[in-house]
Amino acid sequence: MFNASLKQLSNQLAEKKFSSTELTTQFLRRIKQFNPEYNAFITVDEEISLAQAKAADKMIATGQAGPLTGIPIAQKDIFCAKGWLTTCGSRMLSNFVSPYDAGVIERFNQAGAINIGKTNMDEFAMGSSNETSYYGMVKNPWDIAAVPGGSSGGAACAVAARLAPAATGTDTGGSIRQPAALCGISGIKPTYGLVSRYGMIAFASSLDQGGPMAKSAEDLALLLNVMTGFDPRDSTSLRRDAEDYTQDLQKPLAGLRIGLPKEYFAESMSQDVANAIEKALIEYRKLGAQTVEVSLPNAPLSIPVYYVLAPAEASSNLSRFDGVRYGYRAPSYSDLADMYRKTRAQGFGAEVKRRILIGTYVLSHGYYDAYYIKAQKLRRLIAQDFTEAYKQCDIIMGPTTPTVAFNLGEKSGDPIQMYLSDIYTSAANLAGMPAMSIPIGFGDKNRPIGLHIMGNYFKEAQMLNIAHQYQLVTDWHLKLPV
Ligand code: GLN
Repeated sequence: MFNASLKQLSNQLAEKKFSSTELTTQFLRRIKQFNPEYNAFITVDEEISLAQAKAADKMIATGQAGPLTGIPIAQKDIFCAKGWLTTCGSRMLSNFVSPYDAGVIERFNQAGAINIGKTNMDEFAMGSSNETSYYGMVKNPWDIAAVPGGSSGGAACAVAARLAPAATGTDTGGSIRQPAALCGISGIKPTYGLVSRYGMIAFASSLDQGGPMAKSAEDLALLLNVMTGFDPRDSTSLRRDAEDYTQDLQKPLAGLRIGLPKEYFAESMSQDVANAIEKALIEYRKLGAQTVEVSLPNAPLSIPVYYVLAPAEASSNLSRFDGVRYGYRAPSYSDLADMYRKTRAQGFGAEVKRRILIGTYVLSHGYYDAYYIKAQKLRRLIAQDFTEAYKQCDIIMGPTTPTVAFNLGEKSGDPIQMYLSDIYTSAANLAGMPAMSIPIGFGDKNRPIGLHIMGNYFKEAQMLNIAHQYQLVTDWHLKLPV
């Protein structure tokens, strides 16, 4: 059952091969066995999970089950879930039990899915290695000397190590796709606005987007069906007709035009990653696709632009953590200003403080035009490059990350090197376009490699089709870390 697809699990639940209570118990047991080593979960609450499983069993027995009813899903600890400790990987929220459910959590609850636990993550989703978490680093199940990626590192580890059938993540600059690639699983960041941000703790609101992480594209499609939808409580949520993301999975790929951005292939991609991408493209050509070179001239500016805009928004969003309303408060202080100072000094980790400082600086009088406004202009140019490129191709492919997973500790002392892990992923967030990663092989030290599939706005169904067709003829997504 640990390797089964969501569809298989759903069928087996319907056929009464096992109950949701049994399934949930098995996964809880596995978490208990492996989590001490991997540290993928911050909170596990058997009581709540099993109560949900019992309710799901009732739904199944009375014929009310949907495709995800009774299936355990690991929730990134950035999503507020009623009655659950919700920390966002920070000391600042280390005592915060959420009084309400995020839009995403509500949707999973309505679907009858089980919350199997809250996954570890970089503090406030700032990081690419899961090393900034107040709750300690997460290990990559393929090689415990390696990082799992971040910020959704706990989610990626949980799915790769089969501690959960699927998970949620959030992606501001690459946090679903980069850990998916480094842990050998599949993940998709949808078009901005498709998944509700209500109750998803804000990092950089114009970039943040929730999405699913799972073993296969088919699983991602089923999860997206539950996760997407208009939410009036999120002012950037899109009002659109519901879409069935499984609808195009079976379509043949003949005639598909894959754009290969010359800027991505010229960048510092390592040889093992380049080889794996080449092999994946051969597979796609066999499936009837053709490749065309495209250009994204402003894409190389994504990292500098991202590291102006994301910290600017973060500095504003994180001002709410002041020790007054909720979360951590410094135990001793002399007056109100001292309470704020000490609370924030003690509650936030080094990377979060660095972002707040950068953000405050680029938004300050005198620097606003030079940095923030300029970055906004470049952001528009980056988005326009994609619009131009999609006139010549249906989809864009490239590497998700320049290298396989790096070692724990290898980049934690060098923020710039760490930031460069998102060199290929952050442009999609700046443009608000969907992008995904699927496993396509192994590189240096036998660590996983991801293929980045990017699409135009609302092309999720087509991207999932493209990923699924590859997964029908290859088995990288079925490989297990031993
Ligand atoms: N690694 C990037 C950062 O540190 C992106 C993180 C994310 O997508 N949440 O900001």
